[in-house]
Amino acid sequence: MTNKICVRGVEIGGDAPVSVQSMCNTKTWDVDATVAQIRQFRAAGCDIVRLAIPDVKSAEAIEKIREQTDMPLVADIHFDYKLALMVAERGIDKIRINPGNIGGEENVKAVAKACSARNIPIRIGVNAGSLEKRLIEKYGHPCPEAMIESARSHARMLEKYDFSNICLSLKTSSVPLTIATYRLAAETFEYPLHLGVTETGTEYNGTIQSAVGIGALLCEGIGNTIRVSLTADPVKEVAAGIAILKAAGLRKGGVKFVSCPTCGRTEIDLIGLATEVEKRVSKLPKDITVAVMGCVVNGPGEAREADYGIAGGKDKGLIFKKGEIVGTYPYDRLLDALMELIENEK
Ligand code: SF4
Repeated sequence: MTNKICVRGVEIGGDAPVSVQSMCNTKTWDVDATVAQIRQFRAAGCDIVRLAIPDVKSAEAIEKIREQTDMPLVADIHFDYKLALMVAERGIDKIRINPGNIGGEENVKAVAKACSARNIPIRIGVNAGSLEKRLIEKYGHPCPEAMIESARSHARMLEKYDFSNICLSLKTSSVPLTIATYRLAAETFEYPLHLGVTETGTEYNGTIQSAVGIGALLCEGIGNTIRVSLTADPVKEVAAGIAILKAAGLRKGGVKFVSCPTCGRTEIDLIGLATEVEKRVSKLPKDITVAVMGCVVNGPGEAREADYGIAGGKDKGLIFKKGEIVGTYPYDRLLDALMELIENEK
C-alpha cells in the first residue's frame, strides 16, 4: 500500500478510493469561465481539478477561484518556481511541478519550504516526451528504467528538505510503455501514483487507450488517482474516468446499463432504443442494472438477470422487472413504459 496524501479533503493513496481528475482548458485568469468549468466537472463527478498556471495573472486568480468552489485545486507549473510560491500563498491545494526543472537548489528549497508550511502536496510529473537528456543518452530511448530514474532524482531533491508529501505520475503516449513503467514504479516507490496515458488523441481513440492503459493497471491494484487525457471537451474526461473505474470494479453505485450487440435475429431498432434508454437511465440516482436485449432467443434470459429489462420481438418487446414479465408493448411504447416503471419505483 502506498503513502497517503490529502488534497483539500480528498485523500490519494493508501486505502483511499481511486479519485478522478480533469484539467480546465479555460484561461485560468478568466475566473468566471474557469469557475463555470469547475462546476461542470463537479456535476460530472470529478474529484480533483488541475489548472494551468503559465503566468502571474493566472497565479493571482487562484485566490478568487478557490473562494468560489470547494473542489480541490491543483496548479500545473513548469519551470517558474516563483509561480509555485505565489499559488502556495493564495491557497492552492496541490502543485504539479518538477523540482529538477526550476533552476537549482535554492529554488527547490523555497518551494519545499512553502509547501511544507501549508501542507501542500507536490506531484512530480515525469513525461516520456521531456525526459532529461542525460537519461536519453544513458538508456537510448524512453524506457521504464529511465522514467523511474527521472522520478527518483526529482523526488530526492524534495526529500533532501524532508519533504515527502509527494505523488508521482510517469506518463507516456504508448500504452505498453505506460503499463510497464507504472508497474516498476509501484515496486520502487511508496508514493501514491497518478495514472494517465498522455497525448492519446481525440475522444474515441483517447478513451480506448486510456481505458486499456489505466484499466490494466487498476486491475492489478496499481494507481491511486487517474486522469483521462482527451483532445475533446474535458468534461468527457471525467465521464470516461468514472466509466473506467466502474469497469475495473472500483466504483460502485449508479446505473449499470447492459445491451446486446444486435445480430441477424434482431427485429426491432435496438440500437436506437438502447441508445435512448441508456441516455435516460444514466441520469437516474438509482443503484440498478438495466438491460436492453434484441431478441427472444437470448434476450429474455439475459434481461431477467437485470433489475429492469427489455427483450425485443418483432416490432414489439417484453418488459421484465426482477425476473418477472411485466407485459408486452409495441415498439413505440417500450421506452416510455420502461422509464415509467423505473421512475415510479421507490
Ligand atoms: Fe442477437 Fe438476441 Fe443476442 Fe441480441 S440478444 S445479439 S438479438 S441473439
